[in-house]
Amino acid sequence: MNQNVIEKFNNLLGEEKVKADEPMKRHTTFRIGGPADYFLMPSSPKEVKGIIEICKEESLPYFILGNGSNLLVSDEGYRGVIIQLYRNYGDISVEGNVIRANAGALLSQIASAAKNASLTGFEFAGGIPGTLGGAVVMNAGAYGGEMKDVLKEVTVMTGNGEILTLPAEKLEMGYRTSVVKTNGYLVLGAVIELEKGDQEAIKTRMKELTEQRVGKQPLEFPSAGSTFKRPEGYFAGKLIMDAGLRGYQTGGAQVAEKHCGFVINKDNATAADVCRLMKDVQDKVKEQFGVTLEPEVKFLGNFGDAFGLNIK
Ligand SMILES: Cc1cc2nc3c(=O)[nH]c(=O)nc-3n(C[C@H](O)[C@H](O)[C@H](O)COP(=O)(O)OP(=O)(O)OC[C@H]3O[C@@H](n4cnc5c(N)ncnc54)[C@H](O)[C@@H]3O)c2cc1C
Repeated sequence: MNQNVIEKFNNLLGEEKVKADEPMKRHTTFRIGGPADYFLMPSSPKEVKGIIEICKEESLPYFILGNGSNLLVSDEGYRGVIIQLYRNYGDISVEGNVIRANAGALLSQIASAAKNASLTGFEFAGGIPGTLGGAVVMNAGAYGGEMKDVLKEVTVMTGNGEILTLPAEKLEMGYRTSVVKTNGYLVLGAVIELEKGDQEAIKTRMKELTEQRVGKQPLEFPSAGSTFKRPEGYFAGKLIMDAGLRGYQTGGAQVAEKHCGFVINKDNATAADVCRLMKDVQDKVKEQFGVTLEPEVKFLGNFGDAFGLNIK
């Protein structure tokens, strides 16, 4: 960490938006991760652009963070700059059947705004604990709905600080991917188009989906949701359960008893515990069913060879 760099960030953003040596376990739903050298909370595209310019001048890597709900950060942390787009950049406005939101808005807040305006089509996303930015990148989805069904356009910043507005047909969204991900764009915001609906029916659907989540998912433990992607023709959780791994534990990390698709932080797990567990699960499922499970969770920081887990 370098005091001159801190000064530059302080001058750009104000001290209250700049942290040094910030433990990432505070910013991930896994509650795992060592310190990030610099942790910044910009609240405008201009500030984001300024941060990226400083990173280039100082040859510092940077990473865009939303709510950290699909992320495993290394025990050593991150030797670079975290740019968090969350509450600091999360305005939402509704006009007719259209919702405009900044990248840091939580999906639950957008779902609630949609419900209040009697707009239907976003109920599926209300229980996904991520930000709009993270959800666009990953084309987050649940219960038959996906972000791709509701996005009208997305505003992004390119690596050169250029701002582009991409209409839905240019987003190339697929299972947990999008052009935003493949091109490494930063999401600034999006326009969501919904339909007029019946508020009581929307409320009922949201309640039903919440009950399903609470009934099936180990929400009482920290996790990053589904640990592995759904392999073509299978369900990761079922394969893991059929491999006899329900409750399998490595250090503080465990294959959840309630839902084998989730690895949970059962008892002060380290990132290394999670990686070792994921590798064991991958090996056993491959051995028994010939299926290679690919991590859905993103990895940040230095993991060495991650016990041979293929992380990108
Ligand atoms: C209990 C639980 C349940 C879950 N259920 C679901 C589910 O049903 N469906 C589902 O799809 N996911 C689910 N998830 C996973 C997760 O919530 C989603 O992937 C979510 O979209 C991640 O958003 P985030 O803001 O937390 O992103 P982060 O975890 O902060 O980041 C994830 C990735 O997105 C990138 N990113 C984040 N914000 C931006 C931005 N503004 N611009 C560019 N890149 C950005 C990051 O760099 C990183 O690569 C669940 C997670 C948990 C913990």
